[in-house]
Amino acid sequence: MGNTAFNSRKMINFAFSNIERNVETRYIFVTGGVVSSLGKGIISSSLARLLLSRGYRVTIQKFDPYINIDPGTLNPYEHGECYVTVDGHEADLDLGHYERFTNIQTTRANNVTTGRIYQSVIDKERRGDYLGKTVQIIPHITDEIKRSVKLLGKKGEYDFIITEIGGTVGDIESTPYLEAVRQLRWEMGRNAICVHLTYVPYLKAAKELKTKPTQHSVKMLQQAGIQPDILVLRTEKELPASMCRKVAQFCNVSPEAVIQSLDAPTIYEVPLMMHSQGLDSIVLEKTGITPGGEPDLSAWNHFLHKLENATEEVRIALVGKYVELQDAYKSISESLSHAAAYLDRKLKLVYVHSEKLTEADVEEKLSGMDGVVIAPGFGNRGIEGKFVALRWCREHDVPTFGICLGMQCMVIEFARDVLGLEGANSTEMDHHTPHNVIDLMEEQKSVSNMGGTMRLGAYDCVLREGSKAAEAYGRREVSERHRHRFEFNEDYRARFEEAGMACVGENPDTHLVEVVEIPGKRWFVGTQYHPEYQSTVLHPHPLFMSFVKAAVDYRDSRQS
Ligand code: GLN
Repeated sequence: MGNTAFNSRKMINFAFSNIERNVETRYIFVTGGVVSSLGKGIISSSLARLLLSRGYRVTIQKFDPYINIDPGTLNPYEHGECYVTVDGHEADLDLGHYERFTNIQTTRANNVTTGRIYQSVIDKERRGDYLGKTVQIIPHITDEIKRSVKLLGKKGEYDFIITEIGGTVGDIESTPYLEAVRQLRWEMGRNAICVHLTYVPYLKAAKELKTKPTQHSVKMLQQAGIQPDILVLRTEKELPASMCRKVAQFCNVSPEAVIQSLDAPTIYEVPLMMHSQGLDSIVLEKTGITPGGEPDLSAWNHFLHKLENATEEVRIALVGKYVELQDAYKSISESLSHAAAYLDRKLKLVYVHSEKLTEADVEEKLSGMDGVVIAPGFGNRGIEGKFVALRWCREHDVPTFGICLGMQCMVIEFARDVLGLEGANSTEMDHHTPHNVIDLMEEQKSVSNMGGTMRLGAYDCVLREGSKAAEAYGRREVSERHRHRFEFNEDYRARFEEAGMACVGENPDTHLVEVVEIPGKRWFVGTQYHPEYQSTVLHPHPLFMSFVKAAVDYRDSRQS
């Protein structure tokens, strides 16, 4: 686990020295009201980016009020993609935003659910830690929440800990969290502040923006004993200054602490929008720090400039079964967008439904594409469409990137079509396949519980000299995050190598195959791991850069 790239990312925080840094850690709570999906994760990430760019040491954590221990067992239709941290925690997708915005790795400690809180309290009760007391929501659950909130602050590594409270004020399941926040604010004084995100709807028929839902939501927060320090109002239309003043007055918030969050063309513009209204300086002032100077956003602006000014397209198809739900592939689409921006291309991402893709329409659906990504996933649904796409891409030499299940499909399709192994499959899809080219990992055979039992988190991988993958990374030793139970079956390795599919990456300890590629092709690479979890705005992932570059070259070659 861990390598120098990870460490150097952490170091970025310590580059500044001339800022006022008190020893105490400040806690910023971000709550939400009116409706869900307003973008608390993006506001938290943007604030973190601004404070980091001022030289402060910052981390973000998310508290999710649902009872699952982690989102690993959740269907993507519930909460979108499951993100994986370096230490193998299956996490909420907001942690992906945190990492992409801050360039700092999160861990298991950055994402806590009600299930985890209760599990820990119940374990303590069974151990007898409560000494015969009745165990109750207050104080035992709230104390456990408070303990978890403060965990990251223990070592004094951070100046600011931003805590996003999932859900919406007024939800029954959020109540213990709000009570914990109330207590913490009381105990910490101005070292703890609350930023509340609400919604100001525009009523088309009346041609009016309405602040009443915001007022109600703040009242509800006040009823829970929390007076917000800062209000962020999400809106589709510019709010007049008079309206912000009115909200300030009704909600006991100072006028400069009412900030609007207008719909933005890209989420990466939000830090700038927040800064232009002084969110970062207000946070500093409210926590007793005199804001000196300006955040250094030059690298961020460089990226944004490229993202917004690219005119030439690069067209990438993403073949998967969750096309109607784009959050299911969030990290992949963001990784592609980072790479395209740095290559001065406008990303045109086309979602292709793998369940509907057939031999009859593959040409029509993929022929205009400059590159194709075969998505990760679980189970049989849509799998045959992935084989159809892969065969077409292989035969037409289109740059192709298979990720996790996508890589396993590359192997299966090659086994069937090139090695002539009829019925080849993964035992995940067909227990009785005559050619189990993808099979359950040895250590998975005795696993019966589904939660948190996959091969998860960062593992090292050594790449073959001269491979596309090694070339992309510019080094041979890498560490990448995993989330799978099945693997390339070693018994077939020699046959694949002979027929032209090379196993160019393997784990140095277990020799599990991590990367396959077809060397003669433009770019045909599959990774058992998920590189998309490590692409950030300031550090686009080398494999995505290399893949998108191949797509750009392929496009240019067809146009000239
Ligand atoms: N279902 C496959 C496995 O468990 C791939 C998982 C994935 O794509 N994340 O091995």
